[in-house]
Amino acid sequence: TKWTKDRIIADAHENNVHFIRLMFTDIRGTIKNVEIPLTQLEKALENNMTFDGSSIEGFVRIEESDMYLIPDYDSWMIFNWDVPSDGGRIACLICDVDTTKREPFLGDPRGNLRRVLDKMEALGFSSFNLGPEPEFFLLKLDEDGRPTMDLNDDGGYFDFAPTDLGENCRRDIVLELERLDFEIEASHHEVAPGQHEIDWKYNDAIRACDKIQLFKLIVKTVARRHNLYATFMPKPIYGESGSGMHFNVSLFDKEGKNAFFDESTPDQLSKDAHYFIGGLIKHASAYTAICNPLVNSYKRLVEGYEAPVYIAWSERNRSPLIRIPSSRGNSTRIELRSVDPSANPYLALAVILQAGLDGIENKIEPPMPIDRNIYTMTPEERMAEGVFDLPSSLSEAIAEFEASPIMRDALGPHISGNFIAEKTMEFESYKKQVTQWELNKYLMMY
Ligand code: GLN
Ligand code: MG
Ligand code: MG
Ligand code: MG
Repeated sequence: TKWTKDRIIADAHENNVHFIRLMFTDIRGTIKNVEIPLTQLEKALENNMTFDGSSIEGFVRIEESDMYLIPDYDSWMIFNWDVPSDGGRIACLICDVDTTKREPFLGDPRGNLRRVLDKMEALGFSSFNLGPEPEFFLLKLDEDGRPTMDLNDDGGYFDFAPTDLGENCRRDIVLELERLDFEIEASHHEVAPGQHEIDWKYNDAIRACDKIQLFKLIVKTVARRHNLYATFMPKPIYGESGSGMHFNVSLFDKEGKNAFFDESTPDQLSKDAHYFIGGLIKHASAYTAICNPLVNSYKRLVEGYEAPVYIAWSERNRSPLIRIPSSRGNSTRIELRSVDPSANPYLALAVILQAGLDGIENKIEPPMPIDRNIYTMTPEERMAEGVFDLPSSLSEAIAEFEASPIMRDALGPHISGNFIAEKTMEFESYKKQVTQWELNKYLMMY
């Protein structure tokens, strides 16, 4: 690894760093941080920084609230914009969370992902790579700095300025990301007005998830500077496309070769790629709650907006859950299209990896690929092809997750239990609401 304790401390002094954010992610997917002044950096790097985890949603049982933050040296990063009044700079370190007994805390999503990665290594693979494609909306702020539902522009897919007013903001976001070591591959206006997407080069699992979390922070911060609000809510506007976060994933073997690629087969996909897809298809209903964790997520998973509704895979078509992009060789990958940006990336990647590895371990053959538009197939045609529906609500998805020992095991009992409890409450609260749609539809009719 590039960074050592001494190098980080020297770098902090050289760059006039005054504060360090020790960051971690809660079960809900929110980034949390404990900010320490420079004087405490050495202590933090020696793994001696404690914090009280009891206030953090779903993080602990009441009895054991003290936690250690264990900084990942490789995540050392100095922010460019956060200059406090004395001119010093702010840096960050992403952390794992340990208990007071110095064991990995079972409620830490990042530590949990490491556990599933260990299983992957035991099966003979060296890394699981993720290239995400997050989408988001830019909204105008009101005079008090609160987000409005006024979209930032009326642009459409791949439009550019002057229609795309978000362009300058998006460009600033890209510049900021590049300074923080993101290899940006593309950024563009998305289908809906005010909607954008930024893509960067894949990383291995933990780093890729760290980057998603940093990405959200940076997008929101830079948007503010442009007097805009960035939201990753999956479906903010009825009648427009929602925001997804496609996950492009691949497994590498111990020789560093892409294990999904096999030159000798007709589709140039390996046996393991097929089994991985088999696992993703088999467990799709069960992991949906984790990849689409909000009541609102299910307003996106409807027909007509390029979001998946049916459990199927294809090499061409964009309507199914899984698509195989055409690149081969080391870029051979599986694109899972259901994931949305409200998902906790560490949890989503843990269930996806577990589902795929189950496919490999148990040689689960996927069904035949469907290379036509599933939206236009009749229910009878779908039935005949063995194409099932994804869960259509959060409550259905939670029930499917709860009924799957393999998916619950991917998160362990602590996280699974807390997740189910919290999401059940969320749905119960939603269920009781009387919506504007109901008033419009029924008030005058009855
Ligand atoms: N916005 C679409 C979704 O909800 C994806 C559109 C695209 O990237 N082709 O997933
Ligand atoms: Mg894309
Ligand atoms: Mg897109
Ligand atoms: Mg995509």
